Amino acid sequence: MKEFISIVEARSIVLGMVSSLPTERIAWSNGLRRTLAQLIRSRDDIPPFANSAMDGYAVRASDLQVLPATLPVVEDIPAGTFPQQAVEPGTCARIMTGAPFPEGADAVAPVEWTQQGKDGTVQFNRAPAPGEHVRAAGQDVRDGEVVFEPGQVITPPVIGMLAMLGYPEVEVYQRPCVAVISTGDELVDASEALGPGKIRDSNGPALVAQVASAGAEALPPFRARDTLSSIRHIIEQALDADVLLFSGGVSVGAYDLVKQVLDEMGMELFFWKVRQRPGKPLAFGRLQGRFVFGLPGNPVSSAICFEQYVRPALAKMQGRRELLRPRYTARLDAPTSKKAGLYYFARGCAFYDADGRLCVHDTGPQASNLYTSMVRANCIFHMPEALEDPPVGTLVEVEWLDW
Ligand code: AMP
Ligand code: MG
Repeated sequence: MKEFISIVEARSIVLGMVSSLPTERIAWSNGLRRTLAQLIRSRDDIPPFANSAMDGYAVRASDLQVLPATLPVVEDIPAGTFPQQAVEPGTCARIMTGAPFPEGADAVAPVEWTQQGKDGTVQFNRAPAPGEHVRAAGQDVRDGEVVFEPGQVITPPVIGMLAMLGYPEVEVYQRPCVAVISTGDELVDASEALGPGKIRDSNGPALVAQVASAGAEALPPFRARDTLSSIRHIIEQALDADVLLFSGGVSVGAYDLVKQVLDEMGMELFFWKVRQRPGKPLAFGRLQGRFVFGLPGNPVSSAICFEQYVRPALAKMQGRRELLRPRYTARLDAPTSKKAGLYYFARGCAFYDADGRLCVHDTGPQASNLYTSMVRANCIFHMPEALEDPPVGTLVEVEWLDW
């Protein structure tokens, strides 16, 4: 077991231990935010046939060398039909956007370039170049082309593309199932009155929501009392999950019993304590094939440790390629306090100033029990271990909280 390690080491231990879950077949219509586990290869040209990019007339460009020119309209081609004849020299066909392009023709003159003539003719006032306003078959995707690789997150346009390619079902990675376990004799439900010495359990509901926003599934949340038997009893029920998330009970207080119970049950503890603020007492281990995170109980610590360690782990279990949020460089526009020696995940408010520069300042007092610092944040900004009381103008990395 490692103790008091750097955030880089902690994250590399977590991501080194977890791997992608088995796969399952689902309808893509239920697939938003899931991750593809298969290669998607097109079995058609997209578009499947050459078609018109405009409402107008399919012509042979060489017929329109002298303008205005008048041609007989030999066919009408709406979208969804197929041309019955070729466009012979000296003729044209009326065609709609997306309708199959007829043989013989080589360009489309948009309707705006024409005037209706007498007896089924049309007059052209402007001529298209050969190929103009015609979309070739396979212009977007070629038959046999690889369109998506495993690890692709299913976004709304991915759903559109899967529909376009005729994949009503796809193979995706299973979603991790997570048990959220709040611990503490002080905790009551949000619906309960606060008795003496009690506080409402906020980490449980917030963690369940974080699990959902990370694309995983949470079991109904558990709550354990600060006794060995209660914690053991809850763990036994939570073993259906792939990941156990404890809130509280992992620091060094006399009632921080979670570690003790997990030890007795045979947990392999990989690390305990990370050189970070908030969330120093974070613990990570494995119990009977399940991954266990012991998140410190202070609400800010619980939220930040989830974002920094649990979210990337859940992303990896879902087979995703991108595990961490992108980071941007921002300029501190107000000083913030920081001691050297620990890596800080500060809660920030990031914005663009009048010159278009990305700036950030902290959201106020940053103690890990002050949840407003979390709630008001639109980003986390990173302050490396060595940094001390950074002044205005210091460049820091920010990650947007898109939840
Ligand atoms: P612990 O890590 O158990 O020592 O808890 C640290 C602090 O977080 C204490 O002030 C607890 O009351 C508080 N805390 C623990 N669990 C929760 C929770 N589920 N919701 C809100 N606060 C909590
Ligand atoms: Mg506690």
